Amino acid sequence: MPELPEVETVTRRIEKLILGKKIEASEIYWKRTIGGISEKRFDKLVNGNKIEKVWRRAKYIFIQLSSGASLVVHLRMSGDLLVKRVSTPIEKHLRVRLILSGGKDLRFIDTRKFGRFVHHQHESEVLNRLGPEPIDSDFDIESFYQKLKKSRRMIKPMLLDQSVLAGLGNIYVIETLWKAKVHPLLPANKLTRKQAELIILSAANVLKKAIAARGTDLGDGVWKTGAFIPKVYGRSGEPCIRCGSKIVKIKVAQRGTDYCSVCQQL
Ligand SMILES: [Zn+2]
Repeated sequence: MPELPEVETVTRRIEKLILGKKIEASEIYWKRTIGGISEKRFDKLVNGNKIEKVWRRAKYIFIQLSSGASLVVHLRMSGDLLVKRVSTPIEKHLRVRLILSGGKDLRFIDTRKFGRFVHHQHESEVLNRLGPEPIDSDFDIESFYQKLKKSRRMIKPMLLDQSVLAGLGNIYVIETLWKAKVHPLLPANKLTRKQAELIILSAANVLKKAIAARGTDLGDGVWKTGAFIPKVYGRSGEPCIRCGSKIVKIKVAQRGTDYCSVCQQL
């Protein structure tokens, strides 16, 4: 499943190719992808617009149009964006295609169909639901710590909650907790300020490394370009590279969670 580093990678890949291009037509191959509006309406909203800005926030890609509205893309399980020549035969799992000026198109491919490619009049409709990102240069550790102090939720699901902290998915939360030496089941209000700070520093470090490596190769055949190698995720049964103890796997809020029972104690 693409997480922040993978989404950043896709954003950087398409940005230069579509910036300044005009949308000449749209083709919808799977209606649910565009979020429940009619193809005709979608066409009317996007056609004739110039693409003014392409950027990422959390796991969303924003394609800002000259109308002031944005196309907001969420890759979910298996989505991907490609830019190709219009004449290139279409893919089996193509869900949306925008024909652009200059002979190329933007394709949203999504095998499992959970991804979304939705027109939003105002970016704030999406942005207001998102917490800060650990890699934000002005990240406010004190207000993050205050949020933790008020909650008895386990730290792992709390870090996955995009309204608390944006951009971390399962893999990078597992990596972050291991790096910060925090047990995934620790109640949020039991963390010290030092631990809260360590979590943010670790998350930023993990995300930056993963972005530089263009994401993780998840081995699921969906995301193959990344070179980031997790240190604990998917390594249960293997020795912890820090202390040599065995990495164990438990379920936390329905998600598989690898951790070191010696480095990360309750
Ligand atoms: Zn360890």
